[in-house]
Amino acid sequence: MHEAYRRPAASARRPCGKVDFCHSQDPFPRLIGATCVFVHAVNRIPILTYHALHAPGDDYASNDHAALETDMAVLRRLGFRIAPLADVAAYAADNGARYLEQGTWAALSFDDGTDWDYHDYDYDGRCIKSFYTILKEAAVHGESPPPTAVSFVIASPEARRILDRTCIAGRDNWRDSWWSDATRSGVLGIGNHSWDHVHDTLPTVAQREQRKGTFLGVDSLADADIQIRQAEQFICARAGATTRLFAYPYGEAPDYLVADYFPNHRERHGIVAAFVTGGDYVTRRSNRWKIPRFVCGEHWKTPDELARILTAANSPR
Ligand SMILES: [Zn+2]
Repeated sequence: MHEAYRRPAASARRPCGKVDFCHSQDPFPRLIGATCVFVHAVNRIPILTYHALHAPGDDYASNDHAALETDMAVLRRLGFRIAPLADVAAYAADNGARYLEQGTWAALSFDDGTDWDYHDYDYDGRCIKSFYTILKEAAVHGESPPPTAVSFVIASPEARRILDRTCIAGRDNWRDSWWSDATRSGVLGIGNHSWDHVHDTLPTVAQREQRKGTFLGVDSLADADIQIRQAEQFICARAGATTRLFAYPYGEAPDYLVADYFPNHRERHGIVAAFVTGGDYVTRRSNRWKIPRFVCGEHWKTPDELARILTAANSPR
């Protein structure tokens, strides 16, 4: 294990990993001739989430880069195509992307936005492909559309500078210099993962009571405006554009944000959809402010477990 990827200090947390909101949609019976069969009311789409900083080892279980490269082959073998995450968000909001009602689709997202979303790691004899490289290589198989993903990044430069030391090796690997190149690549879009992740290794966070290590304390207009609106403005300025998508740190969605801030202040923040974790499929009935995702290492740990998630997306229930 190389120190650049050494495990975080005990006080640091690997972001985004809690199981929270689970919901599922029931199929409805439809009479065809004399036979009553069950069909899906709407298509079910899994969104798969990876963390570039999870790479203490080199195998599937200990390295999300190795997992993603293997999983791209699993997706291809099972006939899944990768839809743009923004299209899946539109589908969840019943606001376009109707092509997703047919076929087998998945989507990809990456959380926390360390450099290794975009840049290959090559240091002291250890080489790890970035998520960007893995998607570019997967595109040679000719699927349409070519695979894309969204990197959900932490906006605050000061927070990233500290997290670079408290969560990884302190070699300035949590930069924003690649955001604009990623945006222009058409492979990786940039999404909003809050201002500072209210991370518990930061001396101060943008939460009025200094509640750290949870996003559930972001439940006021003032805090939300920093964590979401200010972050969105910063990301847009640095990346040149944003996807207008938000991923809750720790996968946690405060009721205030879901029920009030996001739906009622859209001109203020500009976000069009928000993602939790929870391990469930997206449907056209999903709440656009609480779209579920599956997390590598939490909801599946092996290629076979991922295959079960993918197969279940299409299985009559
Ligand atoms: Zn996170």
